[in-house]
Amino acid sequence: MRETKSQRQERTEQIIKLLKRAHPDAHCALNHSNAFELLVATILSAQCTDERVNIVTADLFRKYRKPADYLKVPATELQQDVRTTGFFRNKTKSIQGEIEQDLMKLVPRKDWIIFSHLLIFHGRRVCKARRPLCEECVVEKLCPSSLLKQPNR
Ligand code: SF4
Repeated sequence: MRETKSQRQERTEQIIKLLKRAHPDAHCALNHSNAFELLVATILSAQCTDERVNIVTADLFRKYRKPADYLKVPATELQQDVRTTGFFRNKTKSIQGEIEQDLMKLVPRKDWIIFSHLLIFHGRRVCKARRPLCEECVVEKLCPSSLLKQPNR
């Protein structure tokens, strides 16, 4: 059965609570001046160093001032702008796909900044791109992408 919006919000809040407990030291060194910029930097930080992300976002945030600006350009142009952070096609898709705006509707405003920090920490320590450590993950029960839920594992 499809999850309702309020069920999804409740699940998101539980995830935030569990992640805060698991990563009390979460913070990040990504430059940003608002929650949306931090979210873009968070997307770019997958499999990339904070230093490289900061070099790329210095120009990126000057060129793209608000969320709508990312949608005005063709994907190929944004791909070029984020190319040096790696996985640039997928990252472009995530930035332009409104995914993050849906996420911002689900995450309470007071948690926008910490949520990005938690995602970075959780991604680097547990939910690793090459091999997520689902058996050790505190949000495994709430995660539809858990490897433990995949058939034929
Ligand atoms: S259950 Fe696995 S895929 Fe889901 S968040 Fe945890 S580590 Fe990542």
